[in-house]
Amino acid sequence: MDSSFLIKCIDEVHDVIIKNEKEIESLDRAIGDGDHFINLKRGCIAVQSINNELLPLNNSQIFQKIGMKILSTVGGASGPLFATFFLEISKTIKDNEDELHNFCEGFNQAVNAIKQRGKSDIGQKTMLDVLIPVAETLKTNMGDNVDRQKLLNAIDVDAHKGVLSTKDLFPTKGRAAGLGERAIGHIDPGAKSCQLMINAVCKVLKDIEDKKL
Ligand code: ADP
Ligand code: MG
Repeated sequence: MDSSFLIKCIDEVHDVIIKNEKEIESLDRAIGDGDHFINLKRGCIAVQSINNELLPLNNSQIFQKIGMKILSTVGGASGPLFATFFLEISKTIKDNEDELHNFCEGFNQAVNAIKQRGKSDIGQKTMLDVLIPVAETLKTNMGDNVDRQKLLNAIDVDAHKGVLSTKDLFPTKGRAAGLGERAIGHIDPGAKSCQLMINAVCKVLKDIEDKKL
């Protein structure tokens, strides 16, 4: 992991968000206030605008700068939660460490920080229904002899299942909580956007693994 890899991930994440504008917007219109796509787009553009500043930095500094940028530009409930993720992962990520192990630890700590900040957990119809299963799969696969292609596929599957699981959940956090039963039958927009972003990063990583073969 280095700055050019992380910048590639930022570009891919921005792409996938833009390509899925209609779906993200309509999900948040159904059980939120319709601004989730705009919040995500604002964050992507803000982070891309500092790409050149990120290039010379180490991994920890990059995550920290991304977190601060999101914190100062993205509103809504999701902005501070995404910012928390990046600020927390920056505390763990180091250059020149066992990369997979270090990333899995950082991801888990960052998801725990979202839980604390949002006072939320799995099963409440939020982004955590995607992030927690992915974090758990990473935690159980951070050993030495992990097949990275298999791990990437497993993460994709977890994220998809997590999104679908939100459909039948009763909402107890965020705006959807105010709708109660009426939110049942709808997928959570934050869960969907997290799945799309995770899928985009997995694609970048799969390309790298393919090139190694
Ligand atoms: P807002 O709800 O303020 O309009 P967004 O539309 O950008 O903000 O984000 C909504 C998403 O944020 C929800 O779909 C949900 O996934 C996530 N979310 C909201 N509150 C929480 C929370 N307390 N914990 C975890 N995720 C949350
Ligand atoms: Mg919203």
